[in-house]
Amino acid sequence: MYRNLLGKIIISGTLECLTGMHIGASRENMEIGAIDSPVVRDPVTREPYIPGSSLKGKMRALLEKALATIPNRPIGSDVKIHVCNNAETAIKCEVCRVFGATGKKENDKEGSNFPARLIVRDLYLTRDSMARLSDIDTGLQYTEWKFENAIDRVTSAANPRQIERVPKGAKFELELIYNVEDAAHIVDDMKHIKLAIELIKMDAVGGHGSRGYGKVDVKYGNITGKTIAFLKDNTIGQQATATTLDNVEGIVSIFNGDKK
Ligand SMILES: [Zn+2]
Repeated sequence: MYRNLLGKIIISGTLECLTGMHIGASRENMEIGAIDSPVVRDPVTREPYIPGSSLKGKMRALLEKALATIPNRPIGSDVKIHVCNNAETAIKCEVCRVFGATGKKENDKEGSNFPARLIVRDLYLTRDSMARLSDIDTGLQYTEWKFENAIDRVTSAANPRQIERVPKGAKFELELIYNVEDAAHIVDDMKHIKLAIELIKMDAVGGHGSRGYGKVDVKYGNITGKTIAFLKDNTIGQQATATTLDNVEGIVSIFNGDKK
């Protein structure tokens, strides 16, 4: 399937932790005596971050449930997720055309991939949050730790452990990039991205959400559409901005009027 790229829509904003957040890292490289459950950190700067894949995966999962997409692909003995098997079906699917689909053979028909239109960048702490967090004294870099005592319901055995968290109030820079391939899809795709973010605000980012972790707020900055012509030469092409994802008519118009 041929996919034309008409331009980009850049959605910027900030994501704030309203409660402590834990996105776990592998313990493989942890030294003995380290915290039981560490957060994921940038390997160079050691600052905690939110992997774009974590946020994108959560947005997709919540949107699938909200739009009642049919789970069709087994990923375990009892678990199925929704992934369109072909690019032709994915482009008509409200979830897969934004979040992507990996093809799979179906009824003797070869599957085909549909790469996601939406890119979710890794989220790093704002400069202000970096400065605030480097001042707190918890014995950990930019984070806090919380003691949790899980009780085994059957044996009553206690399983105490320390969980590392990004503290309440920390803010991260959010950047989503949407590939404009069909101007007629922009309004619906933006509404679905907005819905996924609204659902995340009422769910959780990272682990232990049912125990209060990971409540977040998202504030939008500029939402900017740029045509390919504008990216090539900003004296010829067009750009347009919006402040909310449900009012993007101005952005749609530049892609309708300028398809080069
Ligand atoms: Zn789909």
